[in-house]
Amino acid sequence: MNPTVLIIEDEKDINYLLSKIAESEGCRTVSAFSGTEGLLACERECPDLILLDLMLPGLSGETLLRILREEKQLLIPILILSARSALRDRVALLKTGADDYITKPFEPEDVAARIQAALRRSGRLPDRTDFLSYQNVKLYPESRKVTVHDNEISLTAHEYALLLLFLQAPEKVYSRENLYELVWQNGYYGENNTVNVHVSNLRKKLREADGSGKEYIRTVYGIGFRMK
Ligand code: CA
Repeated sequence: MNPTVLIIEDEKDINYLLSKIAESEGCRTVSAFSGTEGLLACERECPDLILLDLMLPGLSGETLLRILREEKQLLIPILILSARSALRDRVALLKTGADDYITKPFEPEDVAARIQAALRRSGRLPDRTDFLSYQNVKLYPESRKVTVHDNEISLTAHEYALLLLFLQAPEKVYSRENLYELVWQNGYYGENNTVNVHVSNLRKKLREADGSGKEYIRTVYGIGFRMK
């Protein structure tokens, strides 16, 4: 699920621009054009982040910020937008519970970066989709996480390296020599049994995590191993 950003800003052009910026960061957006509308939208939409203008008809941004933090006990990031103002106001707002303060006029890149940073700090960034997968197995190179049926499994460094190779080319047949050179990178394979042992451990972990008895790594007789 993409995070929802609620934009509370009475100037339509700015509200529109902010929603385009948030959408370009992979967020869903909801727009409100007054403080009271913003409060209702907040209760209705359960946003993951709020962009809040200060000068608003109805409830002011300051009042709304206080209501959201003190009465509603809302914990999501709230980023304040306002024309340049005194440092004193900024400090007071941060004390009331604003997470960040963006001065108008703003640069779209700056707003985008602050939205990203606030979502990351609060653990609400969209799930990264860059993973390798084959059937029920997923491998996330960035975090070195491996899941089967979305349950994380624990692999040794060598098992992980083997699985990465298999997932990069499920149809490719790797010889034992190939795998040894690519994973252990320390010279001649010879007659040793290292690759067999690690492949069989990896195979066992995948099979047990899958729970269906399915074999994820096949032996190609006389040649080596492949996934598909
Ligand atoms: Ca305004």
